[in-house]
Amino acid sequence: MPSASLFSPSFFLTAAFACALALQLLAQVGLLTRQVRHVARHRSAVPAAFAEKIPLVAHQKAADYTLAKAQVALLQLAWGAVLLLGWTLLGGLDALHQGLLAWMGPGLGQQVALVAAFALISGLLELPFSAYQTFVVEQRFGFNQSTPGLWLGDLLKSTLLAAAIGLPLVAAVLWLMQAAGSLWWLWAWGLWTGFQLLLMWIFPTFIAPLFNQFQPLEDAALKERVTALMQRCGFAAKGLFVMDGSRRSAHANAYFTGLGNAKRVVFYDTLLKKLDVDEVEAVLAHELGHFRHRHIAKRMVVMFAISLGGLALLGWVSQQPWFYTGLGVAPTLDLALGASSAMLAPGDSVPMQGVALLLFMLVVPVFSFWLGPLSAHFSRRDEFQADAYAAAQAQPAALASALLKLYEDNAATLTPDPLYARFYYSHPPAVERLGQLHQAGRLESAA
Ligand SMILES: [Zn+2]
Repeated sequence: MPSASLFSPSFFLTAAFACALALQLLAQVGLLTRQVRHVARHRSAVPAAFAEKIPLVAHQKAADYTLAKAQVALLQLAWGAVLLLGWTLLGGLDALHQGLLAWMGPGLGQQVALVAAFALISGLLELPFSAYQTFVVEQRFGFNQSTPGLWLGDLLKSTLLAAAIGLPLVAAVLWLMQAAGSLWWLWAWGLWTGFQLLLMWIFPTFIAPLFNQFQPLEDAALKERVTALMQRCGFAAKGLFVMDGSRRSAHANAYFTGLGNAKRVVFYDTLLKKLDVDEVEAVLAHELGHFRHRHIAKRMVVMFAISLGGLALLGWVSQQPWFYTGLGVAPTLDLALGASSAMLAPGDSVPMQGVALLLFMLVVPVFSFWLGPLSAHFSRRDEFQADAYAAAQAQPAALASALLKLYEDNAATLTPDPLYARFYYSHPPAVERLGQLHQAGRLESAA
């Protein structure tokens, strides 16, 4: 078989993929090990900057929680690598494709079924980790408030939702790959972009309420303060909601979401319970900072540009036989995204769009992993900007104390490994974040 020979493009891809996967694993395990060592080493004492505010018990709980999560993450890394190799080089995806081919015959329906079956199987294979995380780790640290019934209900709902929204989208993309000519990826990009925008728009109003209840703020005194702030910042006053996060977890948070008239700031009830009026105002001001700086819109523009590049690349590699043979899918290709197969008459063509899409989605993260720190860097920059905005619109000291409460209540470690944090953290570590706020506070009181 010519495609298996040394130095063929196919062999080169296999080797590049295997090396990239090994490198990624090495980096992930190395970073996680650094994090575990760093947190364990600083477990015995609260860092000086927080000594007055955080009790030692809370600090040690945060350390133990971080270590417990790291253990699960390590297992998950190993399992993820096994699955990835299983799907690709060891022939899992090829076997699933051939099985469905024998059962359904070739066609668009078979390719959609392939994507659906893949999603279902890999979802099931990841499920034990999610259950363990919720009912063992979160439970042990007193965060879990979900029940097996609620958890299963969520699972069922999100699976049905993914099928209802995802299957038509996948079918449309696969159809475009087959029917829209060599520039299909441009059409698919238009569809994908439109879909993302639609999702951003309907998520807060139609999808999130399937899982949680969203109520307008009730407390009158608080409402007056936050309404004044929202007016100052030019944000529609009807856009503030309280979510019953306590149904599932004791973790507290707040976020900004949505597009156009659907945008809103959401406070978890668990957060509201823990903060005083000044702190709520400061946290809201931080979220409004994301809104004023257009962080969501900017992030989406970057995502759209990346997906355009990705789809163009997929458009090219999906036409190359070595893309399939190099990643564990049986060859015998003719090039219009089709392969002839033993069970078909000569000249018949087997659509392979679903195979191409899945292989691409499996393999690209192994290479794009190294862009993660860049994305984390820009995310942390956004957080600093939102903090600076909050410091100007509300009281910096109130935001600092709200953040400290959040760290303590969520058992987030105050002593992450610096390299680990640089690589992964979407939010700046506590020391840096509070440092900037204290500086803003000093400037304010000096003025
Ligand atoms: Zn933020």
